[in-house]
Amino acid sequence: MLWLIVGGCRERGLVRPTPQMSAAERFWVRVLLLDEVSDCRLRVGSGFCVINGQTQRAEGWFGETNGPISINMSGGRVVVGGQVVRGAEVIILPDEPHIFELNGSSYRGKLKLVISADRSTFDAINLVPLEAYLAGVVGAEMPDYWEPAALEAQAVAARTYCLYIKKRFGGGRSWDVKPTAAHQVYQGVSAESAQVWGAVYKTFGEVLVCRRADGSEGMFPAYYSSTCGGSTENSKNVFGDSFEPLVGVRCPYCKDVAKPRFFRWPTVQFDKAGVTRKLLRRYPKLKELGEVTNIIAAKQSNYDGFSRLTSVKLLGSKGKSDFLRAEDLRLTIDPTGHKIRSTICQIKSRGDKWAFLSGRGYGHGVGMCQCGAQGMARKGKSARAILLYYYPGSKIVRLY
Ligand SMILES: [Zn+2]
Repeated sequence: MLWLIVGGCRERGLVRPTPQMSAAERFWVRVLLLDEVSDCRLRVGSGFCVINGQTQRAEGWFGETNGPISINMSGGRVVVGGQVVRGAEVIILPDEPHIFELNGSSYRGKLKLVISADRSTFDAINLVPLEAYLAGVVGAEMPDYWEPAALEAQAVAARTYCLYIKKRFGGGRSWDVKPTAAHQVYQGVSAESAQVWGAVYKTFGEVLVCRRADGSEGMFPAYYSSTCGGSTENSKNVFGDSFEPLVGVRCPYCKDVAKPRFFRWPTVQFDKAGVTRKLLRRYPKLKELGEVTNIIAAKQSNYDGFSRLTSVKLLGSKGKSDFLRAEDLRLTIDPTGHKIRSTICQIKSRGDKWAFLSGRGYGHGVGMCQCGAQGMARKGKSARAILLYYYPGSKIVRLY
């Protein structure tokens, strides 16, 4: 309790301003915090303004709120702290330092509420300037006590990845990224620290670009994952997209950094009936297989002493078969990714269970190996050297 109180006071004393609040819209990130909810709790230490997102007109002002206030739906309209707000989109704009708390977690920037078509629920989207967003990503994706060069490389990779996803997919929806490993983990203010902000400011505006298939130069999805296990993988084999910096490189660095139980992981088993159920639910086209009776390696990348499965063939009780990307199989059976930690493993039938044996590495293995980045940083390599190693053929440019 004492720690909490002291920690709380210290934190308030150290609140940093939110940079880039007047940046151009293309440098703002829209993070989907809550999906189709009917209520949430908001707390803003400073005062805040409520804006109709369509007309951009202010609908109301609130002073400092001590306790959380409720946001809910009534008659197809959003109600903020008992006040009905007009508009299918509502923006909450906190005063400086532009921080709000949603359901107990603090974020920077603005909060946008987008009402669903049937007007019964809303999505809660954090509109946050890119650099402030990164401060909430770097410390969530990497321990902040790691080498500064590793944190800086992480910041550049995350900045590039986010802008690429925003440009590629953001146009057709009201948000750009999810705050989970589905894109990159974002924990808002709780992930920030002096080291994290140091890495963000040291690389302010820096992104990776490469020459693309049509000859133009541009950003690419700078994927990264925890522990490649000895070699990173060609993106083409995992996600299906081809970029020169994502062809895969040998990685002698993560072995010394990753804890042994993460570098090699123990055998895990899953009930066969449960595996069939999960696969058919996720991929309705597999229903014609019936029960999945065999899982065979269809494609794999072979490295010194180990192989990464990239495609599997599923055989069914009705005599039919189909193919699935190995990474999709892994995350369908174990959506957390914490048990079947990578596709560097062998899949064997053991009675009524599927066993995943000889596991190695953690994550999809494409792009920068985070433990490898720390390994290189420990050997004195710069963020630039780390990035050019894991993304060969890329170069670093500054956007602003
Ligand atoms: Zn590695």
